Amino acid sequence: MLLGTSLVLAAMTAQVNQPAPMPKPSVRSQLVQPKVYELLDRAINSYQGGNYNEALACVDLVSLGKPIRVSIDFSGVSPSQKPMMESAIQDAFQGWEDATYGQVGFEFVQGSGDIRIKFEKSVRQFGREVAGFAVWSRQVYDWGNQQYTNRLSGTITLRTEAPQGQNLTREMVMHTAGHEMGHILGLWDSPRVGDIMGPLNPANPVTAPTANEASALMSARSEAVYIAQTAQALAKK
Ligand SMILES: [Zn+2]
Repeated sequence: MLLGTSLVLAAMTAQVNQPAPMPKPSVRSQLVQPKVYELLDRAINSYQGGNYNEALACVDLVSLGKPIRVSIDFSGVSPSQKPMMESAIQDAFQGWEDATYGQVGFEFVQGSGDIRIKFEKSVRQFGREVAGFAVWSRQVYDWGNQQYTNRLSGTITLRTEAPQGQNLTREMVMHTAGHEMGHILGLWDSPRVGDIMGPLNPANPVTAPTANEASALMSARSEAVYIAQTAQALAKK
């Protein structure tokens, strides 16, 4: 008790002599893709070089201020499976919204969105049967004269049948859709069974992100917001 109290006091005293602390970016997480941090580092280099618009275009791909527009191509799904697939995907993405307190959001659109979801009976990657996979890119375009735009795009492929031929359960679809969207949001695979970014155990699928996974995503996002605020403050000087 006493030791704890004196430590707190020491820390408070030390702070008095320091200049007002800037809000510190969170510690970087191993759950987050290195490419996400490369974008943040590029943003820091950009604003340090006076290129504020480039910095903002980079961080915007991490802070994801706008809802991600998702279109679903149901052509690979049987009519009887479609309602389950649709609601499983919606619930899986809602899980990301809930776990991040609405910091990420989705909008389902007709036609072309940022992310396209499609279905195949069987999905293989690197010669192995997988539940699904995602390909994605986060790109910053340089138009010259300090003009930049950015684009998040990707495709998620989900399988409709288990390797043994039976239909996937709703929970398996939720795990797979939530997992693949986790990649698009910026997370890496987790080795831990029980994480949505972890392997799919057909007997026990994970239907929502863990608090740990959500906070890894939110910490990268808050670093992006912090960089954006710094760039905007410097741009006004
Ligand atoms: Zn994965």
